[in-house]
Amino acid sequence: TAFLSIRDVRKTYVGANRQRVVALADVDLDVAEGEVVALIGPSGCGKSTLLRMIAGLDADFEGKLAWTRRPRPGKDIGFVFQEPALLPWRSVERNVSLGLEAQRDRSAEGRTRVRDLLDLVGLSDFAQSFPKELSGGMRQRTAIARALAYDPQILLMDEPFGALDAITRDRLHDDLLRIWEATRKTIILVTHSVEEATYLADRVAVMSARPGRIKAVHRVPLDRD
Ligand code: ADP
Ligand code: ADP
Repeated sequence: TAFLSIRDVRKTYVGANRQRVVALADVDLDVAEGEVVALIGPSGCGKSTLLRMIAGLDADFEGKLAWTRRPRPGKDIGFVFQEPALLPWRSVERNVSLGLEAQRDRSAEGRTRVRDLLDLVGLSDFAQSFPKELSGGMRQRTAIARALAYDPQILLMDEPFGALDAITRDRLHDDLLRIWEATRKTIILVTHSVEEATYLADRVAVMSARPGRIKAVHRVPLDRD
């Protein structure tokens, strides 16, 4: 059985003038534990909407999301956005430990986990640095470490490398593969880039817009004849 099984999901927004926008129609997708699945498609095809549903941030939809283990809200789901949104007055280390502090987790294991995560994303030497002292890539690596702080069962990434220059992006791609090797996290990655999707993912779900649908799911490496 799939780790996450998405069945017949349909999402309608009621916009201005009570106009109904069908953001997603008939979406079916199974995600296996430890798999990296990319969602790719044009703007407006419903990628962010689908991620928000999976994250539990939007429960107003038809259809079904079934998990083998239901994630606890705010704990078992890690989210990485295009903008790292770090707190500028907190050091790298204290940005990563933010969630643990909010849960009053002052355990030795929590502190060890933060140190291990900084090591994993290559920022051990920058633990006491502040976001403004970091490059864009380093900031996003901090955001990835923060998302992993609870040891979530799934990592949702919404165009995480979209704001980076090409060289930094390539480097972060390799960092993410290394992080996956070490953690074997299930990852759903939203991207506009076919290159990124095929480089990072085990499977690529190609979406189309109006209404948002999954047109096809390809296994990587892409079958070529
Ligand atoms: P993507 O992430 O692929 O660009 P979105 O999930 O953001 O797509 O949007 C899917 C569709 O739903 C688009 O047509 C968008 O305009 C519409 N939509 C998204 N959010 C809202 C909202 N809060 N109210 C009304 N329509 C929305
Ligand atoms: P990113 O790819 O994350 O944007 P770069 O690797 O381009 O970061 O690094 C930006 C600057 O910070 C470079 O001068 C680089 O030498 C330095 N730097 C980045 N990561 C480390 C690290 N783990 N240890 C020491 N210096 C680093």
